[in-house]
Amino acid sequence: MRLASSAPLARSYWLRSLKDSLQPSRSLSGEQRADVAIIGGGFVGLWTALTLKERDPKLDVVIVEQDICGGGASGRNGGFVMSWWPKIGSLLGFCDQAQALFLAHAAEQAIAELGAFCQEHRIDADFVRNGWLWTATTPAHIDSWNGTLALCERLGVAPFARWTADQVAAATGSAVHLAGVFEASNATVQPGALVRGMRRVAEQAGVRIFEQSAVTQIDPGRPVRLHCAKGHLDAGAVVLASNAWAASIPELGKLIVPVNSSIVVTEPIPDDLRTLGWTGQQSITDSQLMVDYYRTTRDGRIAFGKGTGALAYGSRIDHTFSRHQPSIDLTAADLRRTYPSLAHKQITDAWSGPIDRTYDSLPVFGTLAGSDNIHYGIGWSGNGVGPSRLGGRILASLALNTPDPWSQCALVGRTCKTFPPEPLRYLGGSLVRNAVIRKERAEISGEQPRALDRLLAGLAPAGLEDKA
Ligand SMILES: Cc1cc2nc3c(=O)[nH]c(=O)nc-3n(C[C@H](O)[C@H](O)[C@H](O)COP(=O)(O)OP(=O)(O)OC[C@H]3O[C@@H](n4cnc5c(N)ncnc54)[C@H](O)[C@@H]3O)c2cc1C
Repeated sequence: MRLASSAPLARSYWLRSLKDSLQPSRSLSGEQRADVAIIGGGFVGLWTALTLKERDPKLDVVIVEQDICGGGASGRNGGFVMSWWPKIGSLLGFCDQAQALFLAHAAEQAIAELGAFCQEHRIDADFVRNGWLWTATTPAHIDSWNGTLALCERLGVAPFARWTADQVAAATGSAVHLAGVFEASNATVQPGALVRGMRRVAEQAGVRIFEQSAVTQIDPGRPVRLHCAKGHLDAGAVVLASNAWAASIPELGKLIVPVNSSIVVTEPIPDDLRTLGWTGQQSITDSQLMVDYYRTTRDGRIAFGKGTGALAYGSRIDHTFSRHQPSIDLTAADLRRTYPSLAHKQITDAWSGPIDRTYDSLPVFGTLAGSDNIHYGIGWSGNGVGPSRLGGRILASLALNTPDPWSQCALVGRTCKTFPPEPLRYLGGSLVRNAVIRKERAEISGEQPRALDRLLAGLAPAGLEDKA
């Protein structure tokens, strides 16, 4: 079985602004052996490695990463550390109530655990737990959270508080925000600092890390044999933590479609933020399907992202997922619309990255057909910073063959709605994406979207929150 690799993605602001070196560690050469090999050095791979070492310090765990750890989505995201409460409807789509509550509570708990982990290991990742504000920026989007809040109420939980229009406008520093709900448990991090810090902790725990070592072929068996350009690695078990790149494996390509998301970062503008009143350090999203997500940084910049949703033919991870100018332009336009008084401020950094989207926007875990020792955890769908902690536990339990609440949770081996093969995947996906862009443009301008655009947009996978 072949695993496609790609050229390193352009470095994000988060990684470039780190003072410590981003020099890669040694690459894999010669003949190597491991108890567990993990393909991918992002949050999912690193949490899996750390959990394995925590459970059995003697285990020989190796991470094989084609770029540097964090070079993928983990070092280039918005740094929103979110729970799964906004996805409670999707969870209830395949879990019973007890299991949905178990997973949602565990995802919320993971946020506090992340803060404690940073503190324990002195990772200066700017962990700030000031909550998330889910807003409406057009009358058409007001109350789009009502379904989610009603489900939470039915389950006897109340993670969200309704805010008045005045409260929302004051906290965000922009009258574009018309209404909102607030989830207090959420946090933000500097994701580049977090992923590089986790890499350091993993190495200290004895995890062997090979960077600039793309795995090009996987031979199933006992052991599983991984092929890299300059060597091989034989492992008792393999964990695929390769995010959107996993789409090159046909069995997994049906479960996810890689779409891009893009972020622009302004010059430092701490005085302007104070003037606007945007000083609370909450994370903010709007309610578009191609969601706008924004936060401030420690040095007083705005990092403004958008789920720009562009696809590449054959699900190849190409420039679309590195620095895609049309997507960056869409993102910058939404920043200017949301904060018109900052229109003259400079954008100093911009990049794109890959999102491994499943149909319901929740991840899927399992073991590749015909093997009992090659496991995967993919489909984070733009909410992986916090929940990847749970992913590490699930994948560690699968790799160790441990029957526990993690390996037996409803995310493992679940039946997912699948995506079509090419050319339908790219052509159909692009058709739907363009309809979503037109529909949301009309809504933002206060116009009625065309019926055909509404119909086509309805075929899109779920966004950051439950599908309305
Ligand atoms: C622009 C953007 C904004 C986002 N914003 C947020 C946010 O604010 N909050 C949130 O929760 N989530 C967000 N996400 C999603 C989040 O970043 C991911 O869910 C999370 O980082 C997934 O971690 P991962 O380890 O699965 O993936 P990655 O970090 O992508 O790790 C996978 C690794 O596998 C490596 N790899 C792939 N193929 C091979 C191979 N053949 N051989 C060796 N190595 C290989 C890749 O190089 C990569 O480093 C965002 C994503 C993007 C792109």
